[in-house]
Amino acid sequence: MKRLVILGAGTAGTMVANKLRRRLPREWSITVVDRDDMHLYQPGLLLLPFGGYEPHDLLKPRDRFLRDGVDLVLAEIDRVDPEAGRVALTDGRSLGYDELIIATGTAPRPDQTPGMAEGEWRRSIFDFFTLDGAVALRDRLASWEGGRLVVHVAEMPIKCPVAPLEFAFLADAFFEERGMREKVELVYVTPLEGPFTKPVASAHLGSMFESRDIAMEPDFYVEHIDPVTRTLVSMDEREVPFDLLVTVPVNMGADFVARSGLGDELNYVPVDKHTLQSRAHPNIFALGDASDIPASKAGSVAHFAAEGFVANFLDHVHGRPMTHRFDGHANCFVESGHGKGLLIDFNYDTEPLPGVYPYPWVGPLSLLKETRANHLGKLAFRHLYWNVLLRGRPMPVPSHMSMAGKEPVGARR
Ligand SMILES: Cc1cc2nc3c(=O)[nH]c(=O)nc-3n(C[C@H](O)[C@H](O)[C@H](O)COP(=O)(O)OP(=O)(O)OC[C@H]3O[C@@H](n4cnc5c(N)ncnc54)[C@H](O)[C@@H]3O)c2cc1C
Repeated sequence: MKRLVILGAGTAGTMVANKLRRRLPREWSITVVDRDDMHLYQPGLLLLPFGGYEPHDLLKPRDRFLRDGVDLVLAEIDRVDPEAGRVALTDGRSLGYDELIIATGTAPRPDQTPGMAEGEWRRSIFDFFTLDGAVALRDRLASWEGGRLVVHVAEMPIKCPVAPLEFAFLADAFFEERGMREKVELVYVTPLEGPFTKPVASAHLGSMFESRDIAMEPDFYVEHIDPVTRTLVSMDEREVPFDLLVTVPVNMGADFVARSGLGDELNYVPVDKHTLQSRAHPNIFALGDASDIPASKAGSVAHFAAEGFVANFLDHVHGRPMTHRFDGHANCFVESGHGKGLLIDFNYDTEPLPGVYPYPWVGPLSLLKETRANHLGKLAFRHLYWNVLLRGRPMPVPSHMSMAGKEPVGARR
């Protein structure tokens, strides 16, 4: 019997376990390890603070999504011993493997910024990247009477890099709909030089900030937070005061990755960006947010990477060369408030461009343009996630990014 162990039963781990169970011969056992049995639909955390979802809308038991023939082990992972081919769990058990897939994602780490996780945490400082954080923020927003609301990104990369932008747009709409927008000063603080990493989208999103009267503080690397004066202080000694801070803390891969000597300085696993194979160990792969590939950390990336990965993995275990090359394809809906949204579609080499998606001429979704259809697409995605994507079923869109339907920069009159 050959043993495949997958660490993490989140988006990437679940999807790939299901796809591989269909295609790997039965002589292979597949074991997936996660610390708990509840799968969280993380994109819903954006809408929860504004009353869009309740926690029970976003949680379902993990085992319901794993095919027969995939074993789920519930335990905290302690470390991997790549030389021995074993994974130690904190409860004393250990699992041997022939092939290992690390899919333990990335998580917010407020402890990495001095002053963040201290007295004001969940009083005037909130995050929305965790379920607890999103619920606490919802409760605070419900009774908040206004003041200076700062939306903050501590450091890149973060998962879903558009989520804090969306939060700022939704906050603007939320306070306007409650008739209190003039009581709220909205400020967006980022270590980037603009709202987004890529120039065309960054210019477009920047003009959306201006039209909504959201001020921007770019190139801001937080050094510490002063919880007494409620001030963000940057490495170059700039200060941004706040009444309410909604922060995306430093995001990091799992600590066991570092303990196992498998990670970079943020605990991400260095891999070949086209095959997702560890650069140090040929029988280890990293999928989803856990790897160091220079793509967005997003569920869509995990999904687009999965098709080629499965084909490569089958070749790999049969001793054939891996011929599929992941292109870094990502797409993200960007909620912009008042029932509208944008969509961006890009890869390692091509930045988000205007146009239509997924089909040339017909769309029906528009790229880099605020439409109702994009907002409805984002809402509908939750059902696709639970029923198609996680179960490893094929989606009706190509895995590789296509230029069909896109307008290259300068093509517009
Ligand atoms: C607010 C928000 C909005 C988002 N919106 C979007 C969106 O609109 N579109 C999009 O594509 N993506 C979005 N994302 C990102 C998306 O959710 C992630 O990129 C995706 O879930 C990554 O999948 P993953 O499998 O790599 O990690 P995860 O799904 O996070 O799974 C990792 C798993 O590993 C487990 N684990 C970690 N460490 C250990 C350990 N030591 N022991 C045992 N188990 C462990 C965890 O319990 C978890 O189940 C959003 C994320 C957030 C936070």
